[in-house]
Amino acid sequence: MGKVYLTGAGPGDIDLLTVKALRVVQMADVIIYDRLANPDILLQAKEGCECIYVGKEDSHHTLPQEEINEVIYQAALKHNHVVRLKGGDPLVFGRGGEEGIYLRERGIEFEFIPGITSAIAVPEYAGIPVTHRGITVSFRVVTGHESKNKDHSQIPWENYKTDDTIVFLMGLHRLDKITKKLIEIGKPKDHPIAVISRGTTPEEKTVVGTLEDIYEKAKDLPTPALIVVGEVVKLREKLSWFEK
Ligand code: SAH
Repeated sequence: MGKVYLTGAGPGDIDLLTVKALRVVQMADVIIYDRLANPDILLQAKEGCECIYVGKEDSHHTLPQEEINEVIYQAALKHNHVVRLKGGDPLVFGRGGEEGIYLRERGIEFEFIPGITSAIAVPEYAGIPVTHRGITVSFRVVTGHESKNKDHSQIPWENYKTDDTIVFLMGLHRLDKITKKLIEIGKPKDHPIAVISRGTTPEEKTVVGTLEDIYEKAKDLPTPALIVVGEVVKLREKLSWFEK
């Protein structure tokens, strides 16, 4: 029986892979990877390493989570070193916890290897700090995705009346609803917001706007994309560095 490394692949830029993640990738017998993990990382694997794609595209799961759990488990029964490679950090909307529980229940040893999350690194590459002295003292990372079979919102919108920076992951397809909701709870229509597409990669693109106009400006950006809401967005004018 082998060991599973539930590993963060970082947000896109391959140089943002941690040294520890690189080490386990290089010794892996099997790598089970997602769409958001930069596929160039697989070039670091040793000869003969089996690479299994279980990609997920935002809400469109290519494989249901239950099946992914089973793929990982089966790999661990046959191989010594199994790397489960996931975009960003495995525990930030990464379902790494569910995979860990599934393995624990079956007596499989595992380790979490944190990754640099897109929630912080993608705004950072766009020149947007998630906190900034004098502007905001905290930030929230929220899923923009809501379960289709629930008619009431699971997102506690009333909590977002504060000055916290809000980062929405998986929210581009609901950008219109998100901005309307934020206006509804009292944010000004000209409140700053940015959408960052394919952050930390050569295709990175950032669109800045207001709660009122961002939808028209950003709705057609390619995924993956995240949304940043808050006064910190304005700092991009002074801090933009990556998109030249
Ligand atoms: N575990 C991941 C997040 C998984 S949820 C992490 O820690 O980064 C997937 C969402 O992350 C996407 O829908 C998108 O909102 C965001 N995302 C991931 N990579 C991104 C990138 N390179 N650029 C912009 N958004 C990204």
